[in-house]
Amino acid sequence: MASLNDIRSTYLDFFVRNGHKRVDSSPLVPRNDPTLMFANSGMVQFKNCFTGVETRDYKRATTAQKCVRAGGKHNDLDNVGYTARHHTFFEMLGNFSFGDYFKDQAIAFAWELLTKDFGLNKDKLLVTVYYTDDEAAAIWKKVAGLPDSRIIRIASDDNFWRMGPTGPCGPCTEIFYDHGDHIWGGPPGSAEEDGDRFIEIWNNVFMQNEQFADGTMRPLDMQSIDTGMGLERIGALLQGKHDNYDTDLMRALIEASAHATNSDPDGPGKTSHRVIADHLRSTSFLIADGVTPSNEGRGYVLRRIMRRAMRHAHMLGAKDPVMHKLVPSLVRQMGAAYPELQRAQSLIEETQLLEETRFKTTLDRGLRLLNDELDHLPEGGALPGGVAFKLYDTYGFPLDLTQDVLREKAREVDVEGFDAAMQEQKTKARAAWSGAGGTADAKIWFEIAEAHGTTEFLGYDTETAEGQI
Ligand code: ATP
Ligand code: MG
Ligand code: MG
Ligand code: MG
Repeated sequence: MASLNDIRSTYLDFFVRNGHKRVDSSPLVPRNDPTLMFANSGMVQFKNCFTGVETRDYKRATTAQKCVRAGGKHNDLDNVGYTARHHTFFEMLGNFSFGDYFKDQAIAFAWELLTKDFGLNKDKLLVTVYYTDDEAAAIWKKVAGLPDSRIIRIASDDNFWRMGPTGPCGPCTEIFYDHGDHIWGGPPGSAEEDGDRFIEIWNNVFMQNEQFADGTMRPLDMQSIDTGMGLERIGALLQGKHDNYDTDLMRALIEASAHATNSDPDGPGKTSHRVIADHLRSTSFLIADGVTPSNEGRGYVLRRIMRRAMRHAHMLGAKDPVMHKLVPSLVRQMGAAYPELQRAQSLIEETQLLEETRFKTTLDRGLRLLNDELDHLPEGGALPGGVAFKLYDTYGFPLDLTQDVLREKAREVDVEGFDAAMQEQKTKARAAWSGAGGTADAKIWFEIAEAHGTTEFLGYDTETAEGQI
């Protein structure tokens, strides 16, 4: 059976054989790009190549890109543990053309790789195209011989990609695999499309237009290709599984989690093991790329993911810190492909251990408080915002952690009440500052915090995070 490591190589080798330059993944923390929290697709490091601002000595590239989708526009944190196909950290395999080949060649490459090199059953594949993209539909018909019923036209933004409010954009075509009618879900565009039966494996973007601020759109001189395929999704398929978490790599991490917590990987704690395996990857890779847990910006996203993982370890009955014990398994699985993991191994272990030790006592106490409150709530009632705020402020529970706990119990948090409590505390703190003399520094701090939100302000944190790589 081909491992995820083998499949990554097969993909990259295929495109190298077809004239692409193999380029390393860029770090998860994008350089010089304050608009983006983390690299979330393969094209991030090539943005300037698509706009023509930058030219390189190659026009075709292929990468396996580290991606984190746990904040900003793409946030899959709440999907982890609940769907078969989402991670916070995943690898996106991509091939890119910067003004070189276009639609027909991109589709031909995709079809050849999937059906010949990977040997997928053609009858299980179906594709979407943007509803006006007759050209793409015709190419699919010609190259793959797909019937019209399996070339689905989609009018939503799911099939029209934009780099931002302005700049390069264009229609895309997505390739789906039907995992079988024993799994709930419907084809793309149907009411049941969010199920796990029809899984999107590969997105091919055709950059052919440029969007201007005045609302007009014009054809680009330089037409480009940007594609992204989730390694874990194609891996599941090629390993005969219906779930990313059943692939060799994820399974090894799940088993490490089960071993460290002395519990059954497939027992009642199954979801917790999946969450832990996923969060182990995102947190460890973020630490390797220089992010440290903190209370703002990228560091706070890292801290939130770490604390969610710890809460799951707690549910599995772990009395002592667990996450740091799983790092060697991760390095064994992924260290050869990503040497930065090996180099940062001790830093990752220390950071995991320190954060877990720090949170342990308040986690125990906070969960007790939360359970107490829940016992006294009327059936189906929301958790009062004041309680969620106390958990946040006194016990270090990020709001999403509290929401994650409640989701299992089909309850919600009164988020408005939480925001109000947060605001009240800020007002009090401000009054206390001005009472103490109201220094200019304090005023500036409050202005910055208010303009950006304390958890959104990326400035200094980003700088120091990058400095530590
Ligand atoms: P989905 O609709 O399943 O959430 P997407 O449309 O958000 O996927 P794209 O932004 O098109 O995904 O990314 C390209 C590819 O990356 C997808 O086709 C999929 O194979 C993979 N991918 C996207 N998000 C994730 C994730 N959270 N975990 C694992 N793989 C992912
Ligand atoms: Mg998505
Ligand atoms: Mg999609
Ligand atoms: Mg997509």
